Amino acid sequence: MPTDGHDPHRPPSPETALAAAGRRPEWTHGIVSPPVYRASTVVYASVAEMEAAARAPDTRLYYGRRGTPTHWALAEALTALEPGAAGTLLFPSGVAALATAILAVCRPGSHVLIPDSAYEPTASFVLGFARDHGIAADVYDPLLDAAGIARLFRPGTALLLLESPGSMTFEVQDVPGLAAAARSAGVTTLLDNSWAASWVFKGIAAGCDMVMQSLTKYVGGHSDLLMGAVSATPALLPQLRRTAHALGQCVSADDAALALRGYRTLGVRLARHAASALAVARWLAEQPLVTRVLHPALPSCPGHARFRRDFTGSSGVFAFELAVDGPDIAARFCDPMHHFRLGYSWGGFESLIVPARPHRRLAPPPAGARFRVSIGLEDPADLIADLAAALDRVSPPASA
Ligand SMILES: *Cc1c(COP(=O)(O)O)cnc(C)c1O
Repeated sequence: MPTDGHDPHRPPSPETALAAAGRRPEWTHGIVSPPVYRASTVVYASVAEMEAAARAPDTRLYYGRRGTPTHWALAEALTALEPGAAGTLLFPSGVAALATAILAVCRPGSHVLIPDSAYEPTASFVLGFARDHGIAADVYDPLLDAAGIARLFRPGTALLLLESPGSMTFEVQDVPGLAAAARSAGVTTLLDNSWAASWVFKGIAAGCDMVMQSLTKYVGGHSDLLMGAVSATPALLPQLRRTAHALGQCVSADDAALALRGYRTLGVRLARHAASALAVARWLAEQPLVTRVLHPALPSCPGHARFRRDFTGSSGVFAFELAVDGPDIAARFCDPMHHFRLGYSWGGFESLIVPARPHRRLAPPPAGARFRVSIGLEDPADLIADLAAALDRVSPPASA
């Protein structure tokens, strides 16, 4: 075996795979990016051909809702981000992806476990819609270890939801440990891997059965697209696909092409988001008015040791807490900012800030004002200057 590093048959690095994934010649006809196939109806040359297509609707053109080569290329490219996944389904939003994956494994009478750090719409689906439809749910502490989660399993527990790091509070979960405990108890796991974009953390390889990500965030990357994806193991893929089809879940070919365009630059963009976010987070950690920086790569973040064990890098979203609070602090901090804009979503090229008021069921809300930032592709020195001015605006006047 060659040892000089020039073996042409060695597996491609992840960056190289980003450039190549999903570009099958029968889908692209040699065009670099798969063409946008806009389709509802597909017409057939014969009844025999029509019947053959109906027997294999996921591997050939059948009807628009079941996808076209544009969709297949994106789905195959996303599957390549999660080693061990057998396939990926596309959804019109991240929320639609989560809701469908949950319904794929739960029935009336099922029991679901959801971390207290879950994205709020996920929690309201599980604790509202799903409960209304006879699916029981309990909220658990995201920092629980494998033994702790195993004590919460009961007959009927069908699904363990994971999200790491948590929305707004950034707790890093023991995903490999919790997934192993679930698997040995026959409980299916679904990980929301949006923060890591299935790039700096691989959920299926860590033992999860289904991995969801909001493509709206880092894969889209330009704040002009809503889409979600769920990748699944060979065992879970058929029931996920059946549920997605039953619920009529599909995305437009134009949006699929846009998501695939974002996918090609995911590696370079995330490297820049991550480096800038770390620079900003480290600067914030040194400011006297900042009491805590919740960035998984900093020791001040709950679960930091797991982050160091399991992640190969970070992304650009984190939060920080201030020593001051009050009804007007958020407006005084954020309204005059130049580079950070007020906005909810994240993962785009532009920096965003949002006053973070996490809804928590188990933990009391933290003291002090808290903000979540998404660090974009701007020069971090400009972002730090914007934050320095904001901290000055809310600093108490010197007392001597
Ligand atoms: C934004 C987000 C979602 C939902 O994604 P949409 O595409 O906006 O529906 C789900 N989970 C996490 C962690 C998110 O940040």
